[in-house]
Amino acid sequence: MSAVRRSPASQGQVTIFGIGSVGSNSATSLAQMNYRLIVADGDRVSESNLEGGRSAFLPETLGMYKASALEHTLLRLGLKVEIATFRRMVQEFSDQEIRSLGAQSDAVLASFDESEQLLRLNGLLYEVCPVVYPGFHQGARTGHVITTIPGVTACLRCSMGIRSADQLRTLHAEPGFPPDIRRVADTVVRVISWLCAEQGSETDRLLDPARNIIFLDNRPSGTLDRSLSVHLLSADRNQDCAVCGRGFGNTERR
Ligand SMILES: [Zn+2]
Repeated sequence: MSAVRRSPASQGQVTIFGIGSVGSNSATSLAQMNYRLIVADGDRVSESNLEGGRSAFLPETLGMYKASALEHTLLRLGLKVEIATFRRMVQEFSDQEIRSLGAQSDAVLASFDESEQLLRLNGLLYEVCPVVYPGFHQGARTGHVITTIPGVTACLRCSMGIRSADQLRTLHAEPGFPPDIRRVADTVVRVISWLCAEQGSETDRLLDPARNIIFLDNRPSGTLDRSLSVHLLSADRNQDCAVCGRGFGNTERR
């Protein structure tokens, strides 16, 4: 990985694991907003990634590693982005590497769909930095964006009320309707800009730390205003949770 140059004008540094539809669209918006990016994905751009504008990749990136394809796309869009790329899946990073990336980031975006790895990230990063977890369900008719903030919100496991990885609903299969994807990606970007904003600055107040689950209802029953409904949901920290429970903060960070 090449070192990311620090720019005083930058809005902040964001690490993105998984550059699929939501990851690539979020990354593009963040680049436009002058964030420094660290992106990781071991997959290559496929035909299905390019179909119907689901991802932000340009057609000419077919077959390229997604990390390289994203860098190429952003440069072609004329964005002077500071970006460091890893051609690796999240499971190919060591625990120490993931914690280190979290520690140097203002926020981490977990935009991939392997349930066990999402819970691994939750365990590794909950104490380290804010993490944003987008997801879709019911064929992308609804989506969610869960944010964890160290010691403030519930962790991912408690937010979703799950005990094991097989209970976790995640992005899975690329959904077909680009506006649904972009809506989740736009929400991710708003949350990240809120997380990175300096205290006291004028900022988007979409996220309420007490209600860290944003539920997006994309198109339930016809009318436009109902189809764009947003629900903010709260989640309690389970006192017995090994990640965010009463033991939080007592373990020495490795
Ligand atoms: Zn928890």
